[in-house]
Amino acid sequence: MSEPPSAQERLIREVGLTVRDRRVLDVLLEVPRDRFVPAELRAYAYENEPLPIGSGQTISQPLIVGMMTEALALTGTERVLEIGTGSGYQAAVLARLAREVVTTEVHDALRTRAEATLRDLGVTNVTCLAADHGNHELGASHLGPYDAIIVTAAAPAVPRSLLAQLRPGGRIVIPVGSRHAQDLLVVTRSEDGSTTTTQSLGGCQFVPLVGPEGFAEA
Ligand code: SAH
Repeated sequence: MSEPPSAQERLIREVGLTVRDRRVLDVLLEVPRDRFVPAELRAYAYENEPLPIGSGQTISQPLIVGMMTEALALTGTERVLEIGTGSGYQAAVLARLAREVVTTEVHDALRTRAEATLRDLGVTNVTCLAADHGNHELGASHLGPYDAIIVTAAAPAVPRSLLAQLRPGGRIVIPVGSRHAQDLLVVTRSEDGSTTTTQSLGGCQFVPLVGPEGFAEA
């Protein structure tokens, strides 16, 4: 007799109805989401829902993490920039599919906790940076350019500074729209770097990007 599926297996089966890339689904089965949520919410870690992680922020819904990760089409050689470390979960997923991840976060409490979680799980190819490192720019151009960029907070438009940090041929996955509702966009930079094409993966709801090229703080 076979074992009944775990809560994580059931969740990833549900995500697999939309996300078709087997490598992404395998990584979602390997990374323990329960380690990235507050202890009192562990029982909900394998529900297909966003969850509060403190500082007024949330860990994204597993389906959205799967869709965004699939859309980056990583092959294992890439250097990836993430805006919005939050719990560190998305970074841990990316770390298994790319060579290196640089992730930035405005809340120091979240950044230090994410760093500790990633360290405890033995993840060594993620660099966590404080978003405000003096020069008030979005991203981390001093460590760029990047092969892929993922923004896990809602932006009013595709940030120009991030396009400048993206290699020709690379992709940005980003929710763009109003404070309350966005479209999940995949922006691909042409091989000669001169143009971009944009595709929408559908509607979504993220917490707002703050600071340069984000929403004014409420
Ligand atoms: N990827 C996260 C979810 C992040 S929620 C995870 O897997 O858990 C979005 C995060 O973006 C929040 O933690 C918020 O503080 C952060 N954020 C908002 N504006 C930012 C900015 N300009 N630079 C970096 N992080 C930002």
